[in-house]
Amino acid sequence: KPKNRLSSQAYIDGVLAGDRVMLSRAITIIESNLASDKVLAKDIVQQILPHAGNSIRIGITGVPGVGKSTFIEAFGVYLVKQGHKVAILSIDPSSQRTKGSILGDKTRMEELANLEDAYIRPSSSGDTLGGVANKTGETMLLCEAAGYDVILVETVGVGQSETAVHGMTDFFLLLMLSGAGDELQGIKKGIMEMADMVVINKADGDNITNSKLAKRQYQNALHIFPLGESGWSPVVSTASSTKHIGISKVWDEVLKYKALVDDNGYFIKNRNHQKIQWMYNNINEELKQMFYGSEAIAHTLETLEKDIISSEVSPVKAALEVIEKFKKSI
Ligand code: GDP
Repeated sequence: KPKNRLSSQAYIDGVLAGDRVMLSRAITIIESNLASDKVLAKDIVQQILPHAGNSIRIGITGVPGVGKSTFIEAFGVYLVKQGHKVAILSIDPSSQRTKGSILGDKTRMEELANLEDAYIRPSSSGDTLGGVANKTGETMLLCEAAGYDVILVETVGVGQSETAVHGMTDFFLLLMLSGAGDELQGIKKGIMEMADMVVINKADGDNITNSKLAKRQYQNALHIFPLGESGWSPVVSTASSTKHIGISKVWDEVLKYKALVDDNGYFIKNRNHQKIQWMYNNINEELKQMFYGSEAIAHTLETLEKDIISSEVSPVKAALEVIEKFKKSI
């Protein structure tokens, strides 16, 4: 056991007491890649599980520069003033490479960072999105067990990480800008489709008219999607994160959504689905790792590739052959 490590019970007690220092230390264990920490982390998560889940989880995305940090600062401060305890997490698989982590730069959320009832934790590092998402997911459970009742999970709106965030949150918020053209600012249609709410940010100064126009355009764009299983029609609104306008409206919509999905059973149904999906994602990752991580398999694949090119073996037969070999090896 590495020195400075406490028993799992000490971490659990600390987290359940809402002790921020212990919460941070427990999250560090979850993020650790040491074998002994992994055992400890599993134990901690397993034991806090009955105390987790009592929150609303909000995913927030948008392209860099749209104002995510500024919005989260304004929204987070608003929520704390309403009496909530807010945890701000992120999934950013690229952060360890670029060092430009969305939440790494805490000065951008200075007011929020200084509030007793706000807890900001930057994205963990990791090689795979799945690995990073696992850690953020477990961190979320710990935060809930520590009494945080609003969890904001931020991600940059470029790539696969939105799907991961959508897969672990109850409400998905997309921040957009006005006047950036029909190509939806690089936001793919699939991401628009996931949104429960679109907020046109920077609706201030000269931008107000454009923002109102954009709001109507996005309302029309969202209209073409069929109503999801939640029964919720996505909402579009405008906001100014710097001027703190339209911030309370976002929370009002979250509450309306929560009331609807509590009532129609979708909230629990979706959470259950997400938990099951989380397991399958891990099985898939683990199997892939076992398969492609094996040297014997890599060697066989190399030979089979040649045989496929020379038409000695069909791709389908090759796939079955290598799977057979894998089955025998386990
Ligand atoms: P992020 O990359 O999405 O996290 O964006 P930031 O929160 O860092 O914001 C990018 C820039 O936009 C900063 O200079 C902010 O001050 C500015 N900004 C953010 N929200 C607003 C807003 O509502 N109105 C205006 N005028 N500027 C904003």
